[in-house]
Amino acid sequence: MHTGLVDADVVVIGAGALGLSTALHCALAGRSVAVVERHTAGSQASGRAAGLFKSVQADELRTRLARRSIEKAIGFAGWAGVPLEVARPGSYLIARTAQHRDYLRRELAQSVGWGADVREASPAQLAGGLSYYRAAGGEFALWCPEDIYIEEPASLVRAYLDACRLHGAAVLENEPAVGISLTNGRIAGVETAGRSVAARAVVDAAGGWVRQVAGLAGARVPVAPVRHQLLITAPAPEVDPADPIARVVDAAVYLRPARGGLMLGGFEAGPLPLDPGQQADSFSTDDVPLDLGVLRAMAGQVGAEVPVAGGPPVAEHRGGLFTMSPDGRFVAGPVPGVPGLWVASGCNGSGFSSSPALGEALATWITAGTAPPGMTALSPARFGPLPDDELVARGLWQYAHYYDPAEALSSGAPPG
Ligand SMILES: Cc1cc2nc3c(=O)[nH]c(=O)nc-3n(C[C@H](O)[C@H](O)[C@H](O)COP(=O)(O)OP(=O)(O)OC[C@H]3O[C@@H](n4cnc5c(N)ncnc54)[C@H](O)[C@@H]3O)c2cc1C
Repeated sequence: MHTGLVDADVVVIGAGALGLSTALHCALAGRSVAVVERHTAGSQASGRAAGLFKSVQADELRTRLARRSIEKAIGFAGWAGVPLEVARPGSYLIARTAQHRDYLRRELAQSVGWGADVREASPAQLAGGLSYYRAAGGEFALWCPEDIYIEEPASLVRAYLDACRLHGAAVLENEPAVGISLTNGRIAGVETAGRSVAARAVVDAAGGWVRQVAGLAGARVPVAPVRHQLLITAPAPEVDPADPIARVVDAAVYLRPARGGLMLGGFEAGPLPLDPGQQADSFSTDDVPLDLGVLRAMAGQVGAEVPVAGGPPVAEHRGGLFTMSPDGRFVAGPVPGVPGLWVASGCNGSGFSSSPALGEALATWITAGTAPPGMTALSPARFGPLPDDELVARGLWQYAHYYDPAEALSSGAPPG
């Protein structure tokens, strides 16, 4: 039990990738920072991520954040002072239908316009470039040489933690925030069971619990938590550990080498919303119900091209919560109506890989007081008042159209 009053310039609630990156960048900017974490750092969504970073994104801001994040992950030791191992095999985006081929062509033109290095891959390149993928010959593929992954997501969390400590940010584990104090309507600090931390800036980076934490300050954050899962097969000779990442966009499936086997994850058309606010207080990511049948069905969709996806036994099956927003974009910035309260959320499945740049941008905004270019577009205020059922319906829609929102928009509007 801690009873002392610790003061900080910035208190971050939640030690996942988004909270730790924001904390680290605030510390690098010379601020005193404390992070309070309900469990242990990285124990929820961040520790279960596939670790994939993707340069091709649906808009210019996300492309910029994604590419900046790749640059920062590769150069982590240089700016954070702590080593981080990164696999840099590049990735293929693969379309097997005419509709998705057109979609990838549009993504190619857009992404190149936004500065990403993306190229059309020849059938021979695809056939020779991915040992776990048996090209049928009719595919259209993009080669994305910038794309990387982090083999074990815990290693990014550990690197953030070590860098936080190196730069003087305190990370207090097993200390849930139970209150946010206000003075004259302005943020004054955070209460945990054992201490009060006075601070003029509080960042809500509580992942699937972001709405409950915002509620402690009487604020509302527009995200809907949705289940996401992946599997890793037992080691298989068909998978070369140096193989690139592959994303089969028409099946909404991603694949990469992992621990000598193959990782497979994807986005089902009928996703499962799961609001921790409607669960027991003790609810954690360990309680998210997993369904291997969903992943087996996805493996079946790519069974002809990736037989190893359904072959060897499953060595690991894991899952957790995405925080989906109504427009598929991050929800980050100052929370309207509560001066001093900030949010880092709306990961939409990219919070792990965008954390280096998103944390950097938020920290700049918090410490310098002005929004970095484009960041106001991520304001939590942008949706106006939105009933919960509409919020969830739109979040589910974004999830189900993860790889083809633009395509889906042209053939059927999202709800709401
Ligand atoms: C299976 C899976 C695969 C994924 N793959 C990828 C991928 O390849 N690439 C990618 O970019 N993203 C991926 N994601 C998404 C990614 O994991 C998330 O976007 C990211 O981890 C979100 O980080 P976060 O910091 O917001 O949340 P979290 O990591 O969940 O951290 C939030 C923290 O807040 C803490 N907390 C909650 N309430 C309180 C409280 N009251 N007081 C103190 N602390 C509190 C929680 O304990 C938790 O540790 C994947 C997710 C899953 C589930």
